[in-house]
Amino acid sequence: NTPLHELDPDVAAAVDAELHRQQSTLEMIASENFAPVAVMEAQGTVLTNKYAEGYPGRRYYGGCEHVDVTEQIAIDRVKDLFGAEYANVQPHSGASANQAALFAIAQPGDTILGLDLAHGGHLTHGMRLNFSGKQFNVVAYHVDEAGLVDMAEVERLAKENSPKVIIAGWSAYPRQLDFAEFRRIADEVGAKLWVDMAHFAGLVAAGLHPNPVPYADVVTSTTHKTLGGPRGGIILARNKDFAKKLNSAVFPGFQGGPLEHVIAAKAVSFKVAATEEFKERQQRTLDGARILAERLVQDDAKAVGVDVLSGGTDVHLVLVDLRNSELDGQQAEDRLHEVGITVNRNAIPNDPRPPMVTSGLRIGTPALATRGFDADDFREVADVIAEALKPGFDAESLKARVSALAAKHPLYPGLK
Ligand code: PLP
Repeated sequence: NTPLHELDPDVAAAVDAELHRQQSTLEMIASENFAPVAVMEAQGTVLTNKYAEGYPGRRYYGGCEHVDVTEQIAIDRVKDLFGAEYANVQPHSGASANQAALFAIAQPGDTILGLDLAHGGHLTHGMRLNFSGKQFNVVAYHVDEAGLVDMAEVERLAKENSPKVIIAGWSAYPRQLDFAEFRRIADEVGAKLWVDMAHFAGLVAAGLHPNPVPYADVVTSTTHKTLGGPRGGIILARNKDFAKKLNSAVFPGFQGGPLEHVIAAKAVSFKVAATEEFKERQQRTLDGARILAERLVQDDAKAVGVDVLSGGTDVHLVLVDLRNSELDGQQAEDRLHEVGITVNRNAIPNDPRPPMVTSGLRIGTPALATRGFDADDFREVADVIAEALKPGFDAESLKARVSALAAKHPLYPGLK
C-alpha cells in the first residue's frame, strides 16, 4: 500500500510536473479537455483489477456482478444521451472503436469513401499507413475552395465507386456536416453511413450540433474530446441491426478484457454530459471559438498573413491559415508555446509546406471552457494569440497575460 510518491518518485515527479503544466498554461489543443475529478477518481479504482471478457450478464469470467452494474449504467446513459438503441462502451480508444465499426459493416478489400486526411479527415478514415488504408480500397473526398466539404464531389465519387461505406466525420474541420445529405447519397448508392463524431460529440450531447445518430448506420466517438470524459471510445447505432456484428467486432474481434475502470469513468462522464451545466459549458466552448475566429480575421491579423479557414467556425475549433504568413505552422506553434498557450500545427488543404511543418494551426476551446473561461476571457486569449503571431511580438507581456488568465481560473485546485 505504499503511495506513488514513495514507491516511484520518478514517475510521481513527472505526473506532478504535468499537473503543473496543465494548471499554469492555456490548453488549446482542440482534441483535449480536462476530465472532472470524479471521472479520474472512478478511473483510479479497483475496477482496474477485473477481467470481464464478454458483455454485462454474459461474461467469460466469474465475479463480474459489480462491473456488470457500472458497464450497464454506462450503456444506458450513453444511449439516452444520444438517442441510440445500441451502445458499446468497451473500445479502448477512438481508433479501436473505428476499427471495430468498419470491420462490422465492411470486409477487407471493400471500397470506403472518407474525407482526405490532408483536408481534415482522420487516420482511421483511410490513411495509407493505417489499417483502414492498408486493408480497404480508399477513395477520398475533399473540401472545396471555400473550405467546405464538397457534397457534389461526395455524390460523384459515391456514384463512380459504389463504396460499401461512406464515412462522415473529421479531426480538423470548422463547420457542421450535412448528415441528411450524406444519408441520401449513401442510400442512392447502397452504402452504409458511418459517422465519426469524436470531435463534436460534446456539442451533440448538449443539443448544440445536429445529432448524427438518426441518420447513420453506425456512429463512433471518443469520450475524451468535447465530451470531456476519460480517454476512450464508444460505438452507437440508431437500431440493433448491426448490434451482433458490432459487439463481436469489439470482443472477441479486436479486444480482450474491457477496461472496466475506464468504463466506470465513462459512465460518470455521461452523467455529467446530461446536465445543464455541461450544456452551458459547451455554449461557452462555441462562443470562445467564434470569438477567436472573429479576432483572427481582423485587419491587423490579415496584415501579417494570418487568416481563418472557411472564414469562421460553427464548432469548438478554429483552423488558422498561415499560407501568407512569415510563420509556418511549426514556428507559430512554438511561438504560442513560448507564451504559454498549447496548440497543434495542422496541415491545411493544399498545404504548400511539408507535413512536419505545415501552414496551419488547429486551435480549440473545450479545455478552457471547462476551466470556466467566459466570453471576456476568450476575447483576451484571442488577442494574445493575434499579438503572438505578429513579428516583433512582446513575449514577456504576453506571458504575463496568459499567467493572469490561468490564475483567474484555477484548474484542479484540490490537486497538488
Ligand atoms: N476519430 C477522430 C475523428 C479523431 O479526431 C480521433 C483522434 O484524434 C480519433 C478518431 C481517434 O481517437 P484515439 O486517439 O482515442 O484513438
